[in-house]
Amino acid sequence: MFDVHIFYLLIFFVTGSVLGSFLSAYTYRLPRGISIISGRSRCPKCNKTIAWFDNIPILSYILLRGRCRHCHETISPRYPLIEVSCAVVFVLIYLFLAGGYCGNSNISAICSWKHVLGVLSLPYITTLSLIFIPIFVIDLENQFIPDELVFISLLLSVFAILLSATNQIYLHFFSGFFVSSLLIFLNIITRGRGMGLGDAKLAISLGLVLGWRLTPAWFLLSFILGGAVGVILIIFGKASFGKHIAFGPFMITAFFIMLFWGDIIVRYKEITF
Ligand SMILES: [Zn+2]
Repeated sequence: MFDVHIFYLLIFFVTGSVLGSFLSAYTYRLPRGISIISGRSRCPKCNKTIAWFDNIPILSYILLRGRCRHCHETISPRYPLIEVSCAVVFVLIYLFLAGGYCGNSNISAICSWKHVLGVLSLPYITTLSLIFIPIFVIDLENQFIPDELVFISLLLSVFAILLSATNQIYLHFFSGFFVSSLLIFLNIITRGRGMGLGDAKLAISLGLVLGWRLTPAWFLLSFILGGAVGVILIIFGKASFGKHIAFGPFMITAFFIMLFWGDIIVRYKEITF
């Protein structure tokens, strides 16, 4: 039996992995100052151009068993990981916005946006994801958050809020700026070592999307994730106290959890406390 649902799921998965492949190149090139349009990808070791059939998202990595066809140097798993993450996010976006995962009372951020933006929530949320995923990667690998990406996401959310039928415009702005001011406060008391200003700027944008209802739980979850990973890294000797660990990846991971499952988390909190 042919299910049209599976067809769309496949389209979203493939589109996500193709855009993920582009983002994996973009996040490699941007911190190194290489233009994104400066020609085809090359193997960093043997400098041979990578043929199109060796550049198929996810599949090529599996077929080549993670090695360059020419010099057999291992290819960083960052490429398939970014491609898979992007594909999974796209599939989730489809399931929530078109697959009936948003009920009437679901207050996950993506469902709230679906209620107030309608069909425009699809381009809005997919574009946001295509901005937040590279910020995650760049901050994780290089410990900095590109201002221009944060700025574009902010602009996009301001447009979305103006276009939407929400009557909570001020609350959206308030939640973003409230979290941001807490991070700036942390930045000041730790003299810039604990929290960067890039984190504070990113927090405005993430809080703006999540709205006042989900922002406190999101902020708490970011610190829980960051603390848990920090402790694990210290136990395994990969990090030490006082050493800077990028906070952006935790804020973005917690953001995606709240985007899709914020409803469950906030309700669970209401039941238990
Ligand atoms: Zn090579």
